[in-house]
Amino acid sequence: MELLDKQSIWQVRNSYLGVYVHFPYCFKKCDYCDFYSEGIGAAPANDEKSLFKSYQKEISERVIHFPEIKNRTIDTVFFGGGTPSKASSKSWKELLDFLRSEFSFASDTEISIEVNPEDLNAKLLEEYHSIGINRVNVGVQTLEPKGLEFLGRHYDADRYNSLVDVLTSSPIKRVGIDLMYGIPGVTKDSFYRDLNLFLEADLPHLSLYSLTLEKGTQYSRDVTDHKKREPEENIQSEILIQLPELLKKFGYNWYEVSNYAKPGFESRHNLKYWTYEPYLGIGPGAHGMIAGHRYGNPRNASLYQKKETSTKYERIDPSTELSLTLFRLFSPFRYLDFIETYLDSETKIKYIRTIEGWEKKGYCSIEAGVFQWKSTALLLLDDLILEISL
Ligand code: SF4
Repeated sequence: MELLDKQSIWQVRNSYLGVYVHFPYCFKKCDYCDFYSEGIGAAPANDEKSLFKSYQKEISERVIHFPEIKNRTIDTVFFGGGTPSKASSKSWKELLDFLRSEFSFASDTEISIEVNPEDLNAKLLEEYHSIGINRVNVGVQTLEPKGLEFLGRHYDADRYNSLVDVLTSSPIKRVGIDLMYGIPGVTKDSFYRDLNLFLEADLPHLSLYSLTLEKGTQYSRDVTDHKKREPEENIQSEILIQLPELLKKFGYNWYEVSNYAKPGFESRHNLKYWTYEPYLGIGPGAHGMIAGHRYGNPRNASLYQKKETSTKYERIDPSTELSLTLFRLFSPFRYLDFIETYLDSETKIKYIRTIEGWEKKGYCSIEAGVFQWKSTALLLLDDLILEISL
């Protein structure tokens, strides 16, 4: 089976719980960003204290609504945003203490935080290490100042120049970065120069994304007004195809379309989204999936703090949702178990027929109930996923 050696095989694992907490503030709102986030400059958020109180209130209210989640063991916590490294370590510690008092934690719980380069320094990582955070991901995007300017991202030259040293001497060993390709004005060579720096540093996790144009963003308005160019799609396709082989040479497993990890260093929290595991989503703009239901919070920090926790829950529909996440995985997974657990008999038959058709066309391998995409599927992935989800 292509690439199968040394890779974990993902399976249905829905008795644990993940927790995602959204901290919505950033130094500056980037032009391409469609997450719920607000640029507030260098100062801390005025409402940090009350926002963290509201997180605790929301957790308690979700538990009242779904008492059975108290019996679950938390095995991943993810502080995302926005820029969670803009909040103090003390606030995160208190929230972790609260979660530990409310739930039982697995002994090897993955506790991640996203950090922006302007906040990254050795002292911050020491603080995170001391409060139990054991995974850090840094949103680098590009080391090219003109690329950062194109993206409308804040650029702090000293912090960007020191980030490899800070990450390689980190007391937290599970570290990774996000890099983006296809930014107009940033050449293919320049992207590979950045990537090589991180490959040589032997970081255990790399998220390598193509720049996308999202509706409603400043970037999308600038493209409509002919002020900025669209992402470089030709460069993106070339890089997308080249990455798996290159990263394999450096010992990375390609486990999701945009994510590569040294064996055992995958983001277990993000895997929950792709393998349809339940998670609590806390904070403004956060979404959760719990006890067969989904919910979403308002994309507005003050509304989130003022209003009662929303009790609008929608039943999940695995027949349309499962394919959209599961088939983003490029590492092997036990597809028959997923199908058996989540789908009705009619949908099951449709999935199995479609998958067998893909195998005949050489897009995937299926062996002993285990599915794995072949790299031939990569450029067709969106269409193939659409085919199985319709
Ligand atoms: S730092 Fe991240 S979350 Fe904040 S605006 Fe930029 S891309 Fe969005």
